[in-house]
Amino acid sequence: MSQQTKFLLNEDQMPKAWYNLQADFPQPLPAVLHPGTMQPVGPDDLAPLFPMSLIQQEVTTEREVEIPEPVRDVYRLWRPAPLYRAHGLEKALGTCAKIYYKYEGVSPAGSHKPNTAVPQAFFNKQAGVKRLVTETGAGQWGTSLAFAGAHYGLEVEVFQVRVSYDQKPYRRAMMETYGARCVASPSNETVYGRSVLAKHPDHRGSLGIAISEAVELAVQRDDTKYALGSVLNHVMLHQTIIGLESMQQMAMADTWPDVVVGCTGGGSNFAGMAFPFIGHGLRGGPKPRIVAVEPAACPSLTRGKYAYDFGDTAGMTPLTKMHTLGAQFTPPGFHAGGLRYHGMAPMVSHAKELGLLEAVAYDQVACFAAGVLFARAEGIVPAPEANHAVKGAIEEALRCKREGKAETILFNLSGHGHFDMASYQKYFAGELTDETYDEAELAMALSGLPSVPEPV
Ligand SMILES: *Cc1c(COP(=O)(O)O)cnc(C)c1O
Repeated sequence: MSQQTKFLLNEDQMPKAWYNLQADFPQPLPAVLHPGTMQPVGPDDLAPLFPMSLIQQEVTTEREVEIPEPVRDVYRLWRPAPLYRAHGLEKALGTCAKIYYKYEGVSPAGSHKPNTAVPQAFFNKQAGVKRLVTETGAGQWGTSLAFAGAHYGLEVEVFQVRVSYDQKPYRRAMMETYGARCVASPSNETVYGRSVLAKHPDHRGSLGIAISEAVELAVQRDDTKYALGSVLNHVMLHQTIIGLESMQQMAMADTWPDVVVGCTGGGSNFAGMAFPFIGHGLRGGPKPRIVAVEPAACPSLTRGKYAYDFGDTAGMTPLTKMHTLGAQFTPPGFHAGGLRYHGMAPMVSHAKELGLLEAVAYDQVACFAAGVLFARAEGIVPAPEANHAVKGAIEEALRCKREGKAETILFNLSGHGHFDMASYQKYFAGELTDETYDEAELAMALSGLPSVPEPV
């Protein structure tokens, strides 16, 4: 009897609404604070940055938010995304666990990020916006927003973190192919970028700095808004299409996960996969273990503080309560650029505080080894970020082997690594090392967290 490998949904089985975990949290999310007044921000405070439709999605506690039909039309270019049973990987590991993975690398940008880039561009276009400004780490988000901007005829300007700009020239070429303008950050194009370069002319950049530059530019013009590829509640919401489709596909496979695994940078692909399962559990369904995997070199969930902090380095964003390494922290230049962010999505952080998920951290060399094993067994070369999820799933499968348990493991393969082959080359040449962060810098960044009066 041949075993089924691929689980595909028809286009008409694609979800018609995103799922909002805010509806099922046993306690509400902590308020977002205005850094000047320390009072909760209102929609008007965010209006210079985002269209009102997205601000409403940021705060809504409705369980379902309809996916507009024109967005579903664009999603149909690559969705529903396939879910695979990893027979080859199971065999290579000799595990009795069943491993399934959802593959988000089938999008035009090669990752999950267009799931939110498309609706963000759609809602901005609807609001009459002409230009979007953003930041990008590895270039995945910039590429995704450039693709969505091209579809809706929006100008897109991208601040790319310097280290990735230098390491990944093809990502920039792809952004330019879609018509976006790409600038290395820190740059000379903003007051904040110039202030960083004045102190550190060779600064390797960080997402926090690039966000400050993008926000600075966005607030200068009425026809310009800012777009963020992770962290925010509306981004988590858009990504839930991953988990919602996966639930249908697990049912097709006639099983249900005991463990759900994802990698976390800002938290969006992980949330997209995990939140529908967490919500289902909170409403009385089965409760799989939920495991977030982060890089040991940027360990916000496992080593950070749960505290109010800025989303950017200059302190221009509102204050959100999240697991953070401190907005002044510059993570080392390891190769999973999409995971180099000092903070974590407030919704993921809140879920962790409520005990709804676990977090682990792995070093990059071990993650590349996992990615290579996966590529040889399954055929897909994962993005360096996704290697963390692969590593997490493999560790769970090996635990099952030791314990003689036939558990079902589901993980999200957030993207392919075709633009990251230089980092694989380095791995094969033995030149990849486990970057460690500067303990003193981390301690200093944490001691510099803004002080926020505790609510009574
Ligand atoms: C950006 C990116 C990530 C990390 O971002 P999250 O918001 O944590 O999902 C992970 N995997 C890939 C392929 C990415 O491009």
